[in-house]
Amino acid sequence: MSQAHQVTVIPGDGVGPEVVRSAVRIIEAEGVRIDWEEAEAGLEVFKRGDTSGVPAATRESIERTRVVLKGPLETPVGFGEKSANVTLRKLFETYANVRPARELAGVPTRYAGEGVDMIIVRENVEDLYAGIEHMQTPDVGQCLKIISRKGSEKVIRYAFELARREGRQKVTCATKANIMKLTEGLFKGVFEELAPEYPEIVAEHLIIDNVAHQLAKAPAQFDVIVTTNLNGDIISDLASGLVGGLGFASSGNYGDGVAIFEAVHGSAPKYAGKDVINPTALILSSVMMLRHLGEVKAADRIEDAVLATLESGAAVTQDLARQTGGDVEQAASTSGFTDAVIAALGHRPSRGGRRERPTGSPPTALPGWDYSPAHYAGIDRRTIGLDIFIATEIGSDVLGPDLERIAGGTPFELEMISSRGTKVYPPTGLSPDDVGLLRARFVTRDRGVAVDAELLELQARVAAQHPGWTHIEKLHIFAGHDGFTKAQGQ
Ligand code: NAP
Repeated sequence: MSQAHQVTVIPGDGVGPEVVRSAVRIIEAEGVRIDWEEAEAGLEVFKRGDTSGVPAATRESIERTRVVLKGPLETPVGFGEKSANVTLRKLFETYANVRPARELAGVPTRYAGEGVDMIIVRENVEDLYAGIEHMQTPDVGQCLKIISRKGSEKVIRYAFELARREGRQKVTCATKANIMKLTEGLFKGVFEELAPEYPEIVAEHLIIDNVAHQLAKAPAQFDVIVTTNLNGDIISDLASGLVGGLGFASSGNYGDGVAIFEAVHGSAPKYAGKDVINPTALILSSVMMLRHLGEVKAADRIEDAVLATLESGAAVTQDLARQTGGDVEQAASTSGFTDAVIAALGHRPSRGGRRERPTGSPPTALPGWDYSPAHYAGIDRRTIGLDIFIATEIGSDVLGPDLERIAGGTPFELEMISSRGTKVYPPTGLSPDDVGLLRARFVTRDRGVAVDAELLELQARVAAQHPGWTHIEKLHIFAGHDGFTKAQGQ
């Protein structure tokens, strides 16, 4: 007999224990041998004063088992600094969040019959979700959007490999590269560099707002969508809505050797403990887990049983009854739906069956490019100036001449001042709102190289006159390309 798999199970908050119990019961009824290591995270942990929401014992369990089935975790308002969900994803560098959205027989939607069957692969650790935020003044906040080549490569390769293994035809990259050229643009650039390695797959890039539009209009055109974190967060919920809603939306977070499986929905506190929530999302997430564990046959049988149950209408949960105008009072309970799926093991739906996959388990992708210090040492890198952000009550018409005076006698000149990214000095004739935070750009005359001593001297001079300075950014040129963007109107 094969060895039991080790899996960390986190029941979670609100409806979490009920939906996790449902999935565990079905897996056990199917006869898959799993040693569940129960661990905690979320609300109760925050309440005990652990501000991470993920205790050391839970981290150690995941280090050991490398596979997690988890219920939703509540992010309390007022205590607990960060979302425990995001912490878990980041701690274990689960860089690819995979969310399938496939039409389900028995779950009527506006798009029924169109053949919606897509997977959204969302970058899971970078972008604005790096969570690096600073107030620049009492009334101006800033959040850093971090996108790396390596992080982009990992998730984009993952998406192409997944498409290949699932026999899918197309990967769509969805970004806002037209506006954020150095971050979203980097992601797009990596996609375009990698696409030729997968010649059998159609690779296209669409602007994210158009993707939202197309998803609402003609969702069946999409196959695999790969995108940055915030874009993916939004469009994957949108995609869930196309195929029946959060009660049906499953997900897996994949990293290098660690994978975390969870429903897309949250803890739905108003339904907690009432045995009424739809467990399908978590059951289908556990099906993804079984594929990851190599239990392909069991995964297929459980997926078939869920689809057969939904198709037959043998057990209709409240959310579905509401959507179909059915009798909510008579709807199946969470445990009743679970019983129905267990009874359906061995059955297949007559239509709209599961997707046949050439191979079972999803890929684990590693970057293929060189990220060594030696590689970076070979890239020409020059610093030509500074952006200094200054919280100030004086307008740019007064600040500008003052900064020009301060730069006198240094290797730098004031190139421009901007307010929220729009050039305001030298005057443009327009007057965007002044929010009390200006950015002054100093560059060397003739764009010559600036050394740190010169940059620090300039910064000290500015700080002496304008103590409201809040942060600085060096202006780099990498391999001949500007590592900074122009201001709007510059
Ligand atoms: P939510 O828990 O997902 O619930 C929002 C609504 O979605 C519910 O009221 C219900 O709609 C519907 N819903 C959710 N799960 C369902 C299911 N299994 N079956 C049927 N309907 C379902 O979102 P929230 O209320 O915004 O968030 C609550 C807490 O969960 C927050 O603390 C949030 O931070 C956390 N959260 C955690 C995760 C995670 O752990 N990955 C994800 C999202 C949110 P109706 O009211 O229309 O019935």
